Amino acid sequence: MKQMTGNEIRDLFIEFFKEKDHMVEPSAPLVPIDDDSLLWINSGVATLKKYFDGRIIPDNPRIVNAQKSIRTNDIENVGFTARHHTFFEMLGNFSIGDYFKKESITLAWEFLTSENWMGFDESLLYITIHPEDTDAFNIWREDIGLSEDRIIRIEGNFWDIGEGPCGPNSEIFYDRGPDYEYDAPDEEMYPGGENERYLEIWNLVFSEFNHNSDGTYTPLPKKNIDTGMGLERIASIVQNVPTNFDTDLFMPLLQKIEEVSGKNYGENDQQDAAFKVISDHVRTVSFAVADGALPSNEGRGYVLRRLLRRAVRFSKELGVKDAFMFSLVDTVADIMKGFYPNVEEKSDFIKEVVRKEEERFLSTLDEGIRIYESIKASVKDTTGVITGEEAFKLYDTYGFPYELTKEYAENDGLRVDDEGFREEMKKQRERARSARKAGESMQVQSETLSNFTEPSTFTGYESMHEEAELLLIVKDDQALDSYDGEETVELIFDKTPFYAVSGGQTADTGVIKNGTSELRVEAVYKGPNNQNVHIARLVNGAVEAGASYSLSVDEDKRRFIVKNHSATHLMHQALKDTIGEHANQAGSLVEAERLRFDFSHLNPLTEEEIRTIEDAVNEKIYEGLDVQISEMPIEDAKEKGAMALFGEKYGDVVRVVDMEEYSVELCGGIHVVNTADIGLFKIIAETGIGAGIRRIEAVTSKYALEYYKQKERQLQEVASALKVKEDNIARKISQLYDERTELKQEIKDLKSASAKDKLTDLKDVKHEVGDVELIATEVSAKNAKELRAVMDDVKSANQDAVIALGSVSDGKVALVVTVPKDLTDRFKAGDIMKGMAERVGGKGGGRPDMAQGGGTEPHNLTIALQFVNDYITTALKRV
Ligand code: ATP
Ligand code: MG
Repeated sequence: MKQMTGNEIRDLFIEFFKEKDHMVEPSAPLVPIDDDSLLWINSGVATLKKYFDGRIIPDNPRIVNAQKSIRTNDIENVGFTARHHTFFEMLGNFSIGDYFKKESITLAWEFLTSENWMGFDESLLYITIHPEDTDAFNIWREDIGLSEDRIIRIEGNFWDIGEGPCGPNSEIFYDRGPDYEYDAPDEEMYPGGENERYLEIWNLVFSEFNHNSDGTYTPLPKKNIDTGMGLERIASIVQNVPTNFDTDLFMPLLQKIEEVSGKNYGENDQQDAAFKVISDHVRTVSFAVADGALPSNEGRGYVLRRLLRRAVRFSKELGVKDAFMFSLVDTVADIMKGFYPNVEEKSDFIKEVVRKEEERFLSTLDEGIRIYESIKASVKDTTGVITGEEAFKLYDTYGFPYELTKEYAENDGLRVDDEGFREEMKKQRERARSARKAGESMQVQSETLSNFTEPSTFTGYESMHEEAELLLIVKDDQALDSYDGEETVELIFDKTPFYAVSGGQTADTGVIKNGTSELRVEAVYKGPNNQNVHIARLVNGAVEAGASYSLSVDEDKRRFIVKNHSATHLMHQALKDTIGEHANQAGSLVEAERLRFDFSHLNPLTEEEIRTIEDAVNEKIYEGLDVQISEMPIEDAKEKGAMALFGEKYGDVVRVVDMEEYSVELCGGIHVVNTADIGLFKIIAETGIGAGIRRIEAVTSKYALEYYKQKERQLQEVASALKVKEDNIARKISQLYDERTELKQEIKDLKSASAKDKLTDLKDVKHEVGDVELIATEVSAKNAKELRAVMDDVKSANQDAVIALGSVSDGKVALVVTVPKDLTDRFKAGDIMKGMAERVGGKGGGRPDMAQGGGTEPHNLTIALQFVNDYITTALKRV
């Protein structure tokens, strides 16, 4: 076997399949494009779904790629097996309706065993197949010549992710020898078992059935091949090292971690696990951020947050205290830059994101300790056990490492329900798995459109009308000669001025006519073979294949769509100039009435940034830039500095939209001739739509003017409500504010004056019963607290009196009574209160000198107050 670096192996794989007439598909970004069903690109096939389910027919049915992938379901394995990562590269060859089982097996075998390529020792390779896949068995047995004992039948070898293509698979294993039998039980010691000796290197999937939405399986019209081989695993074999982490794809990272931590890799297992986890996770995070994801509390962002936290937690094992992960980003960039330059290009941004997140977590750890303390307080004197649920919540919600929970608990003499915790972890993994499975399905192939290859020319750049021949009518996946029903049909013409939805620009709508027949075009999309497919509904007559029609786009609508599209380009540039190059387009929608633009950015835009962007775009509208559109080789476009859409795939010749070099973008859309045609540009909203993704909505031309007019009307309404001229609104408002402040002060003064008055009033109600001074009256107070405050005032002015106050608010009565200290041996406040409260249907009590109470019968308050008088009179008589 030849010695090779990871990069050389990747190249060799691609080279091999290029030689076998495969076209190279570039590695797609980890964040799926136009595919909400998937959190991350997790395999080579994930980016090729559009070919697999027949939505698009590739230029060449044989494809090879090296695809970066993220798998979060393997996260708990990382650091503890030799072969699992959260980020890894999958090398794959694919056949879209071209070769099938036999060729795919032969190709794989040749690549692995031929001296010209990998040159693996044949006797170390083992195969698994699906038990019923006799084709695969015969190929391995007869064509390749493997003995039966090296072909293992495994029930689970059937690749099925719900609706869409599926089929049996066959995996290739490499025997790493008896030295690798550690840790695994005997019953797992076979190719396909959970062990490190028989290493799964390559999975060949024979996709031959359609899994239909009703759960049935039918043969696929076009059978596909999908294979995946882990680059890191192959490298570990080629370089004859014990784990993926000991390959040149990781070693520089491990050395950098040694440098930062002062600890050595290879000293003991526990420390080594930390080295592995940290190096794995920093690769994942660096690549994910480079591809537009950012840490947050949900979805993709949450995965990044968890990975970073897990790495930081393992760094404690190495005695690292401060943020340090960010300092590894440059090493990741350096190892990978040959094939993946974008990590290096964005390294400053990545480092900032990682450092902020680390620092944030280090302070979260403090929070975790607080939560732990409160759990401890509640169980310490009761069960003495921290439940699995509590430990899991600490881990999952607060990012507090389980090991730390255990450590703390041990110190505090508590037990942690280990089994319960594991149970929760298992549930979490199941949730993740079912979410993954549910989301991966594809669409069912449409055979009619896939097989229809006659070209259709788009003439809509120059014109909005066209006379064209109707080539195809499709209804329910059947080609029809004619149709006269009420539902929509799909139509393909030999040429068309109708723009199909793409690049964010919405499709044209319009009319198709011929004699007395008329159809309304409701939507247009690009079919699998690149023709524009019109979804249309009859208004009159019938539609017939082979007939000629005149096609007319809704002109007015198109005109405004075009303005908004050009404005989008200007804004994209202005945005980058204002907030930075990282503001990549993450989504775009161009309609007639408005435009919407999503981009990656951590913080909301400030008012000032929004104004700067708006001004810059309008400036370019006033300047009247000519819009030059030309086709050129992609190399030339790159040289011109054309902005390419991140992750989009372009052909060799591209269409470049150039606005006098201010904005240069690759784009297939339709644009104004001169930016002056846009008229006016106005941003009307800026919001966040997810982790690190912001959205701007804007309007142009007539719609911008309408927006301003509406604002003007609002201003007029305000002016007329204020009864001033518009120019004087601000002055009027500040005048009203001043008045308001004065009035408030006046009210305050009046209130305190009237409160004083009331106290004087109370003097009037004070009377003597025998030798006792008594005040018993209703006052106004909102609640018991206010009533006590009134009592304080009254008392301070009437030290020697027995005072009983009552107030009514919200249908409730509040009562308070005080008796001067030197009278308490004669009358007790508590006794007085009892009698009072009883009379208002409530309760009360307190000390001899002060008692409180209340009731629910306001109409009896007078009686209650009268009672005080009677009580004292009676008491005096008794003496
Ligand atoms: P395993 O059973 O070893 O976890 P798998 O069955 O999940 O692997 P596939 O989905 O068949 O793997 O992926 C194809 C290939 O990608 C595997 O043969 C392996 O070489 C590689 N691979 C899969 N998962 C990982 C991972 N987490 N880290 C590194 N390589 C992986
Ligand atoms: Mg497997």
